[in-house]
Amino acid sequence: MPISFNQPTLIGLEFRYLAETLERAHLSGNGEFTKRCQHLLEQQLGAHRVLLTHSATGALEMAAILAGIGPGDEVIMPSFTFCSTANAIVLRGGVPVFAEIRPDTLNIDETAIETAITPRTRAICVVHYAGVGCQMDTVLEIANRHGLVVIEDAAQALHADFKDRPLGTFGALSAFSFHETKNIISGEGGALVINDLDLAERAEIIWEKGTNRAQFQRGEVARYTWVDIGSSFLPSELTAAFLFAQLEAGASVTRNRLDAWQRYHAALRPLEIADRLRRPVVPQGCAHNGHIYYVLAPDGAQRDAALRAMAARGVNAVMHYVPLHSSPAGLRYGRAAGPLPITEDLASRLIRLPLHAGLMPEHQEAVVAALEHVLA
Ligand SMILES: *Cc1c(COP(=O)(O)O)cnc(C)c1O
Repeated sequence: MPISFNQPTLIGLEFRYLAETLERAHLSGNGEFTKRCQHLLEQQLGAHRVLLTHSATGALEMAAILAGIGPGDEVIMPSFTFCSTANAIVLRGGVPVFAEIRPDTLNIDETAIETAITPRTRAICVVHYAGVGCQMDTVLEIANRHGLVVIEDAAQALHADFKDRPLGTFGALSAFSFHETKNIISGEGGALVINDLDLAERAEIIWEKGTNRAQFQRGEVARYTWVDIGSSFLPSELTAAFLFAQLEAGASVTRNRLDAWQRYHAALRPLEIADRLRRPVVPQGCAHNGHIYYVLAPDGAQRDAALRAMAARGVNAVMHYVPLHSSPAGLRYGRAAGPLPITEDLASRLIRLPLHAGLMPEHQEAVVAALEHVLA
């Protein structure tokens, strides 16, 4: 049996909540389960306002609108991220400016942000890779000094902290993902966190296709009409019902992933000491959520060979991002703030290991044995 990289898992009352939704006969968005998910997330995060979306991609698009990104505006972000981080900016006519990452966490190098700032810079979008937090105190300090909006692409970072504060609560706006590859899932799904309360009213309008429908439903306005730009960013109630069951079990999901993460980490220590790979680094102050376990091969050629050899042994290990500054759309729509040698080097060496709720310790032993064999 091959060991799969990911495996979506039911963990609670998903079926019961889906049945409840069907009985209630409200399947479109912003119903009972959407509200329950939003309240639960607000509680878990200690956040002011959360809106469920159909994806983190949608939440990032909302964030770009709310941050006022317009033609020619620049947004500083890492190149080592998923294309949705950049697409959200490009769709507003903005320009992603790709900054270097830190060699330890693969997060944006906070010391590389300031030199990337130009008179056109409007925002900084950080990405908490693998659920390990960026240095948010430094990022916020730079943003405040230059009057920039901070957006967190926290797609991978639910239930992870930086200095005892949940990721997703630092920026004016943050995006979470519930895509089936993430820790907490609803197939497709996401959430926008609005920490800058001045943006909350407009967020709701953009979310509801540019209408004041939510205000109308609360009896705050007499008519329901088109008042601003917007789109259909809401998930259906079926998605929200499934998600609510997952969110309720959030603590145990995170615990299980951290256990599996720790088993890899302990088992791979000898290989790191022998210089055959490098393990992830979690800096002081970062409480991560076990979202990804990766290793770095000594060089790109060995990584590529290792992925092929592991596949042949039935282990579905995978690479991660092709750096955006070197991708066809990144070259067309964005620019690198300067040379990005660390980004290029680490991206070429990275191997993500299978990690999911159904992964057993004996599977992990087989993965480690495969790595021992292929990274000689
Ligand atoms: C998964 C992911 C996204 C996209 O999330 P969707 O919910 O699939 O749209 C965006 N950014 C990062 C860093 C991600 O890991």
